[in-house]
Order: sequence, then C-alpha cells, then structure tokens
Amino acid sequence: MDIKNGLVDSIGNTPLLRLKRASEETGCEILGKAEFLNPGQSVKDRAALYIIQDAVKRGTLKPGGVIVEGTAGNTGIGLALVGNALGFRSVIVIPETQSQEKKDMLRLCGAQLIEVPAVPYKDPNNYVKYSGRLAEELAAKEPNGAIWANQFDNVANRLAHIETTGPEIWTQTDGKVDGFICAVGTGGTLAGTGMALKERNRNVQIGIADPMGAALYHFYKHGELKAEGTSITEGIGQGRITANLEDAPIDQAFQIPDEEALPIVFDLLKEEGLCLGGSSGINVAGAIRLAREMGPGHTIVTVLCDYGTRYQSKLFNPAFLKEKGLPAPDWL
Ligand code: PMP
Repeated sequence: MDIKNGLVDSIGNTPLLRLKRASEETGCEILGKAEFLNPGQSVKDRAALYIIQDAVKRGTLKPGGVIVEGTAGNTGIGLALVGNALGFRSVIVIPETQSQEKKDMLRLCGAQLIEVPAVPYKDPNNYVKYSGRLAEELAAKEPNGAIWANQFDNVANRLAHIETTGPEIWTQTDGKVDGFICAVGTGGTLAGTGMALKERNRNVQIGIADPMGAALYHFYKHGELKAEGTSITEGIGQGRITANLEDAPIDQAFQIPDEEALPIVFDLLKEEGLCLGGSSGINVAGAIRLAREMGPGHTIVTVLCDYGTRYQSKLFNPAFLKEKGLPAPDWL
C-alpha cells in the first residue's frame, strides 16, 4: 500500500521535468522542478509547512492558534491549507495589486484576507510590516494566541529547501547537476537549495534570475542594491537582503526582462503542455542564460514555481498584456 497521511504528507517530492525546447536550444539538460504540482499549486507549500511545524515545535503556535502573514499569495495559500489540515486559522495580508485568482483562492480556503496598498518596504504600511504589527495585536487578543509566519526573515523557510528541495534534486539527478538557478521572493528557495547542493558538490554553479524592478542583480554583480524597470511577474523581486538570503552561495547573476520571460511561459504551455506562472518564465530564461554561460553538455535545474491558472486575468489576458505593452501570442 502507498497511502499518504493527508495534505501535509503530499507536499514536496515533486517530479523533475526535462524542458524540451530549452534543452534543445542550449545543448544542455534544462530541468524544471515541478513545484506547481504541490497540493497548494506552488513551491511555497514547502515553506508554509516548515514554518508551521517549527512554530509548533517551539510552542509558539498552540492548538487553535492563528497564523498571520504578509504574502503575495502563494505562501498564504500554503499556510491556509496546512493550517486547515492541522487546526489553525489564518489571517493573510496581501498587496491589492496581486491577482484576483490568488485572492479568491485564499478566501475559499477560509483565510481572513486583508488587502493593503502596494507600497515599498520602507513604508510602515507595507504588507510585510503591516502583518507583523497585526500578529502582535492578535497574539495579545486571540484566546489561543497568534504567530507571525515572517517568511522573509524566518529561516525555517529556507530550511525547507535545505532539507527537501535540494536533496530531492541531488537524488533525482544522481548528483549530476552542474547548475541551479531561480528568482528570489524571500530567497528561501534559492539560498536553501543552493546551500544543499553546494554542500554535496561545491562546484555546482548557483545563479539568481532577477526580474526587472528587483535590486539583487546589481547587488550580486556589483555589490550595490539598485532596482530599475518593472515586471508583471508576482511573488518575486526583492529589494533587500532578507535573513533567508544571508550567506546564500551565489556565483552568477542575470537580469531578465518580461519580454524575454513571457514568450517562454507561452511556449511551455503551447508546446510542452506546462501551464505556469510568470516567475517560472523568469526561472527558465535564467536557466537558458546560465546554460549559455557554462556551455553545452551541462545539467541545469530550475524551479517551475506555480500553476498558470492563478494568473488567467493578467499573464494570460491579451487585453492586460496590451495595456502593459507586452507581446501576446496570437493563439491566446
Ligand atoms: N514564484 C512565485 C510565484 C512565488 O510566489 C514565490 C514566493 N513568493 C517565488 C517564486 C519565490 O520563492 P522564494 O520566496 O522562496 O524566494
């Protein structure tokens, strides 16, 4: 018999998929970790589970307690689902600019949703800071207490990738992995997976694929946090070195414009049947850049972060793309 104990046991152990066109075009094996197949349809299920288990272990999250978090959506969905499975309520603070589909999903999971204006991190009303304050208030008020998940600076997040994503990739490739690259939201995926792979082989090249509007490309390339341009991708694009990113073993940095990433998302759906969100396009574009840098014959792994239906009203909406001056495929 092969039976999993509900939702919690079905997080992780995702397949590693060979991406046909990217591999053919570069002469490398370009592999995508299929994180969109997690039960909450994103890579963030892993961090959500680790953050909750860590808080339970520490005794800060008690039966019937409340989980509070500021999120672009995916972490919130993971927290709400794992919370439902383990008996915790969730209160999610989300910037109003995030996709309607993610907000609808959060509401249907039973999370209490608080939409706030999308303002920079330095603003006290930024969603992350707002959620931290709210958690403090609720911790004092709620009968069973409340915790702040704090995914950006809580390293239980990257531990999920040190203990699961990285080792899974190592095993799935029989240790024959030459490069790993992905974008950064909190940095948990990149730092944790990068650390796990470097620990097993210090020659594995770790790359960051940074979207426009984020400050990390310039930081890892030139030592200066500097942002330029914008991106329609969600869940990625960081302006500071989070605790999860500290000591991340990063060898290569690439800056990926939406014009390069979005056609990849459309082609992956049309030609390979993979329905993915925008950050997956940034990641695969980054893997192609790293492959070109390293030359043919290498195996490069990236992350297929979340499921595309989450962005039907934006990324897959020709009117939205036109308004942003971005190309839409004629079949859309
Ligand atoms: N892609 C998407 C769609 C996300 O929601 C996130 C998480 N915010 C990421 C990528 C980045 O993952 P991490 O937080 O581990 O850097």
